[in-house]
Amino acid sequence: MKNILIIGGGFAGVWTAAAAVRVARAHGVPQQQLQVTMVTSGDDLVVRPRLHEADPQVKRVALDRVLGPIGVGRIAATVTDIDTRTRTVDAVVRSGRNTVLGYDRLVLAVGSQLVRPAIPGSEWIFDVDTLDAATALDHHLRRLPQRPATAGRFTAVVIGAGFTGLEMATELVARLREVADDADDVRVVLVEPADVVGSEPGEGLRPSVSSALGHLGVETRLGRTVELVTESEVELSGGELIPSSTVIWAAGMAATTLTECIPGERDRSGRLRVDEFLRVPGAPDVFATGDTAAAVAESGHTVMRSCRHAVLMGKFTGHNVAADVLGLDLTPFAPDPYVTCLDLRAARAPVATGRDRIVQKTGEQGKALKRRINAEWLYPPVDDADALLKLADYQGSWSREESCA
Ligand SMILES: Cc1cc2nc3c(=O)[nH]c(=O)nc-3n(C[C@H](O)[C@H](O)[C@H](O)COP(=O)(O)OP(=O)(O)OC[C@H]3O[C@@H](n4cnc5c(N)ncnc54)[C@H](O)[C@@H]3O)c2cc1C
Repeated sequence: MKNILIIGGGFAGVWTAAAAVRVARAHGVPQQQLQVTMVTSGDDLVVRPRLHEADPQVKRVALDRVLGPIGVGRIAATVTDIDTRTRTVDAVVRSGRNTVLGYDRLVLAVGSQLVRPAIPGSEWIFDVDTLDAATALDHHLRRLPQRPATAGRFTAVVIGAGFTGLEMATELVARLREVADDADDVRVVLVEPADVVGSEPGEGLRPSVSSALGHLGVETRLGRTVELVTESEVELSGGELIPSSTVIWAAGMAATTLTECIPGERDRSGRLRVDEFLRVPGAPDVFATGDTAAAVAESGHTVMRSCRHAVLMGKFTGHNVAADVLGLDLTPFAPDPYVTCLDLRAARAPVATGRDRIVQKTGEQGKALKRRINAEWLYPPVDDADALLKLADYQGSWSREESCA
């Protein structure tokens, strides 16, 4: 029997598992001959793109309801080391016991993590990178009305005007208005070291970003950094003090440190460089996918840390890892031009294509698309092997609706 071991139960890991099973079934290979197993820290697929919203605790899908119907084994454990020479993985299971897992092929799909700042008072800073962190922020916001009525009680400072910071800042206006008695008490300030807002979304989306921030009354501090945070105040470079009970860090992502266990080249943010088939050159029988991998996408660009790329990379990875074990042809990774859909609240969700981010849809049209992405397309089918395996085809679309069209 051959064993494919997938580390990570996010978007890339789930779709790798489904696509690998799809290939095995398409070639009549029984489970006794090819076992697919996922080892991952939690019991759920966490829908990270929705963690800046209210009630983050429900933004998840039970992995057993996705993987169970297709016969993928699951081990709830945190991987601590990988030895590519002995083809073994060290992990710690829930009870605290260490375990060693072997593999014939390994897929690293452990995602990315926020790089938190080393500034005085960083313990007062929230983030929405993980379910636990987003839940802590959610509880904090709901408890604000019980706090003493100080100047910055309903003021939030968001640090970083990339995609996450922009979505967070625009969302916070509504979330703070819900808990404040007087909407006039609500203030959201977006701090960005670059001189322009939205340097990550780029020039194509900047007019939509500026207009949404203006419409919602989000203040910006450009070309500034945060120097110090206390429970009730933020100090910016240049000396400005902003009374604030809520500070959120939304800048700087890196691959998880587990990538360092794999011999291979990494990009500046620690992602493993992979070949066209998503294998790690120099690490035999190891594939990397999703936020862990710096794969080449369209026009020589590397993939973005995004669900759209993680889902599609997962499907190609699953196809290729199973094909590799079974002696079939591998397929080069080939995504469509990237589509950005940025949710800026207040009926604004510009949709843009390509790296230049040419805006294709705005207003209610874009908002409707974002609602579908968030409410439906990010969620893999549960308790339904056929629906999951149909969507796992890399040649199909990433959404249920598109695949039905
Ligand atoms: C707040 C926020 C907003 C976002 N908004 C968007 C958006 O609007 N659009 C978009 O496309 N993308 C968005 N993203 C990015 C998107 O969520 C990621 O690109 C996507 O989740 C990557 O999928 P992945 O499977 O590679 O990694 P992840 O989804 O991070 O999954 C990684 C998995 O690995 C597991 N894992 C990690 N370390 C270990 C270990 N040592 N042992 C065992 N298991 C481990 C984790 O538990 C998890 O199951 C957002 C991200 C955040 C945080």
